[in-house]
Amino acid sequence: MKRLALSLLALSISSAVLAAEAPSFDPHRLSADVKTLSSDAFEGRGPATAGETKTVDYLIAQYKAAGLQPGGDLKNGKRAWTQAVPLLRAEIAGTPALSVSVDGKPQALTQGEQIAVRAAMDGSKQVAIKDAPLVFVGYGVKAPERHWDDFKGVDLHGKIAVVLINDPDFETGQGDFGGKAMTYYGRWTYKYEEAARQGAAGVLIVHETEPASYGWNTVKNSNTNAMFDIVRDKPAETHPQVEAWIQRDFAVDLFKRAGLDFDALKKQAQTREFKPVTLKGESFSASYKVDSKVITSHNVVGRIDGAKHPDETVIYSAHWDHLGVGAPDAKGDKIYNGAVDNGTGTAALIELARAFKSAPKPERSIVFLNVTAEEKGLLGSEYYAANPLYPLGKTVGVINLDALDPHGPARNFTISGSARLDLLDDLIATAKRWNLSYSPDPKPEAGHFFRSDHFSFAKRGVPAISFGSGNDWVDGGLAAGKQAEDEYTDKHYHQPSDEWEAGWSFTGMARDLQILYTLGSELANSNQWPDWSKDSEFRAARDKTAADRK
Ligand SMILES: [Zn+2]
Repeated sequence: MKRLALSLLALSISSAVLAAEAPSFDPHRLSADVKTLSSDAFEGRGPATAGETKTVDYLIAQYKAAGLQPGGDLKNGKRAWTQAVPLLRAEIAGTPALSVSVDGKPQALTQGEQIAVRAAMDGSKQVAIKDAPLVFVGYGVKAPERHWDDFKGVDLHGKIAVVLINDPDFETGQGDFGGKAMTYYGRWTYKYEEAARQGAAGVLIVHETEPASYGWNTVKNSNTNAMFDIVRDKPAETHPQVEAWIQRDFAVDLFKRAGLDFDALKKQAQTREFKPVTLKGESFSASYKVDSKVITSHNVVGRIDGAKHPDETVIYSAHWDHLGVGAPDAKGDKIYNGAVDNGTGTAALIELARAFKSAPKPERSIVFLNVTAEEKGLLGSEYYAANPLYPLGKTVGVINLDALDPHGPARNFTISGSARLDLLDDLIATAKRWNLSYSPDPKPEAGHFFRSDHFSFAKRGVPAISFGSGNDWVDGGLAAGKQAEDEYTDKHYHQPSDEWEAGWSFTGMARDLQILYTLGSELANSNQWPDWSKDSEFRAARDKTAADRK
């Protein structure tokens, strides 16, 4: 440990400008917090489970000890430590009966094997679909501004849409959907929403590892447990009754047995001329009960009142939840501990709170927002952004932390996805003082901009980014960093094996937190209102509240 500390010191002294005002962060404390949060006792931190109670209590205790004020719901003139987040919780009761029929011959499907079906989110208590026709609708995109419509007026009522993941120009790398980079049209959430608008009874998304950017295990683990949504007035407008993924090999075979060539049809789907194709002689059946109820989960909110402009807010956010208890892995482990995802970001927020509380009061207020139900679709942040405790128009910016690297320091950093905004420029300038360079998301096709909690704020115009640890390690360079990254994605991401390791040094996080602290501190002690770039799709939403910032 001593040697590590020395090399870190050497590093910072060698930087051109030493940011002397940034406090140092303790890697041991980060490690201890991650260890606690990801221990089996916290049961994988599933929303509305005993694991939530433990996690929320732990966070409140840490914030209290640090001297923060509660920043949550206002009750009788007093703030609570939490913001109640009502969520619809739906779960398939027992084993779902699923099948396809080819030329009258039924073939049973096993949940988690050929198919992963989520519990119905459209308000159904019972799903009973008998021999619904299957219609391939390409990428399932309807984008008038891009003159693109995969549906071409097909009637999907009572039918199951089969769609491809990502957007139409992902494979060609060139086109109207950002080339390799993913637009929102490429996200699975969009596929479901659009199919609901088209009136489909269900959707089967064909899983392919590259365009999905994750393997089947991730799909299986994220879809076969209890599902959540924010409570909606008309849920069927957002969700078709059946929302599912199917394995690629199974899809190829289905197409083949209908006399169709999957690859050839996919090529067609990459053009505007594509028209929906019925899988002749085939149908889909599903029968299961859905247990659903409204449950209440919680965002945890700590606050430091600004000395000069308490009504202006800088937010640090991180999701506290993970996947809870689910399907066992090969070793029989059922607890999805979520040490990296997102024990790290949660621990980082606690450490940041401690650091800010030991410093002179900032001019603007700082809110530490630990959101729930990120793993269920960014729901805690969505709920906060839809029901803000502090006005979004006067929220200066959101710095979100999700799945940080617990190893040693890197020479670079990144953000989730690609976006252009002053907040990123500020981060780049701040990180330079530590000799860190910015590496843009090397995989914009994975649509990471839509996959973290900052997006709930971004789509409402609030400047927001998710910081990402670098992979060009001081010790071992890109080779070592990338290897660790690949190993995490392959072996641990959303799997029970995302567990705390004694060998993690946390020195990289400790160093990065100095940068993130400085970024937030300088924003909180300035009159700056960072904005989106002029051509950003989020700028217009921000402009709507411009008067609030005069
Ligand atoms: Zn996460």
